[in-house]
Amino acid sequence: MSDALLSDPNGFDAEAFRREAHAFLDWVASYLSRVEQFPVRSQVAPGALRAALPLAAPEHPESIPALIEDLEKLILPGITHWQSPNFFAYFPANTSTPSLMGDLVSSALGVQGMLWITSPACTELETHMLDWLAGLCGLPARFLSSGTGGGVLQDSASSAVLCALLAARERATGGRANEEGCRGDLVVYGSTQTHSSLEKAVMVAGLGRRQLRKIAVDADFAMSPAALKAQIAADRAAGLTPCMVCVTLGTTSTLAFDPLPELATLCREEGIWLHVDAALAGSAAVCPEYQALLAGLELADSYCFNPHKWLLTNFDCSCLYVADRSALISALSITPEYLRNSISDDGAALDYRDWQIPLGRRFRALKLWFVLRREGAEGLRRHIRAHVALAARFATHLEHDPRFEIMAPPRLNLVCFRLRDNNERNAALLEALNASGRIYLSHTVLDGQYVLRFCVGQPQTAVRHIDEAWALIAGTASALAA
Ligand SMILES: *Cc1c(COP(=O)(O)O)cnc(C)c1O
Repeated sequence: MSDALLSDPNGFDAEAFRREAHAFLDWVASYLSRVEQFPVRSQVAPGALRAALPLAAPEHPESIPALIEDLEKLILPGITHWQSPNFFAYFPANTSTPSLMGDLVSSALGVQGMLWITSPACTELETHMLDWLAGLCGLPARFLSSGTGGGVLQDSASSAVLCALLAARERATGGRANEEGCRGDLVVYGSTQTHSSLEKAVMVAGLGRRQLRKIAVDADFAMSPAALKAQIAADRAAGLTPCMVCVTLGTTSTLAFDPLPELATLCREEGIWLHVDAALAGSAAVCPEYQALLAGLELADSYCFNPHKWLLTNFDCSCLYVADRSALISALSITPEYLRNSISDDGAALDYRDWQIPLGRRFRALKLWFVLRREGAEGLRRHIRAHVALAARFATHLEHDPRFEIMAPPRLNLVCFRLRDNNERNAALLEALNASGRIYLSHTVLDGQYVLRFCVGQPQTAVRHIDEAWALIAGTASALAA
């Protein structure tokens, strides 16, 4: 008999698992407690990891200590430490211990939550968590599952805007786009500051990139309602059909807020699907004092924010809310025979596969449930408020140094700044800072000017990290000037 037939397929060895898992939990605990010691941005050259790995997969099982040793030796040098308290680049990608434990349980259950019947708890916990979050953030009642709307977890804000666009496309074509393919007349609107995921969605949805209008922004980088209105009129006059407007609350470059109340009224008058993207800034709404930033959302058709950015929940976890779930479902639903079941047929439960592009889906709601229960609303608010205060502290440092200027109104956890000098000098400053390994910042370009972005959002970031980052920035600027 071969070894394969002798081994017991049901023999889960709980003792061995406990031993091995403990070794990894110890490693995780150790990593998170020394994350500050690593160079924040990975310092390796392209190809370094590939060169260190064996050419082929191992023939024989390897030991746990060998895996852990290679995590340290091979993987960590190639990691950019997003959990470092000195990570100020791009946007935060929070994790937390409740979140990682939720993901561990999800992996252990290993369920596919595509239909209600394939794991009822996966669907119902998700519906419930999205309702909880809507309540915490003060979202309009139309996004609650108790009415005609509801929320769903997507892998990313990019998927959320694509799903919203597909629903908008069905609505704008009277439900014919899925059947007949896309007509050439649909037009989508964002601003010059809208995230690139809108442009990608327009490409993927088959509308064609030239059908995307990038509306002008004002001096604060917010979309101009007058410019949008004029563009819509021009497109209608040319025989085109406005399909969707994407309004951003907290743009990627500067956290600018498009004037939602005015834009939403315009979309309502024009009968255009309104998608609101608050991927980063939306988490701030767990604090009552920031809920006014969402004014006008009661007129939106869809809304997205990412707990995987700033709400202590590790990637991936993006919330998409719709006011009319039937619009989304009719755009994305398809039922082959092998997925038919009486509960779905009766409409007695939600099947989230009809709310997203792929069929399969992970049990993401578990980590959200763990985070919301372990932190409580008060823990989440404390976390957001601490980061906003730290960003304000950094802005104060800048204001006291005449060599620097702040380039956009500082908002929430982001400060955009530059040396009062040319673009080359600012790019050199950023590269010197990032090459030091001590902090990590990213950049953007505003009106042709190279601008550094300082975004606060890691759970371990404290006052001393802000002050040390500032000292390093000020000192590096002096060294460059010398
Ligand atoms: C980060 C971000 C996105 C993209 O989010 P993903 O979840 O990575 O797709 C979209 N819009 C805004 C405003 C963002 O800040």
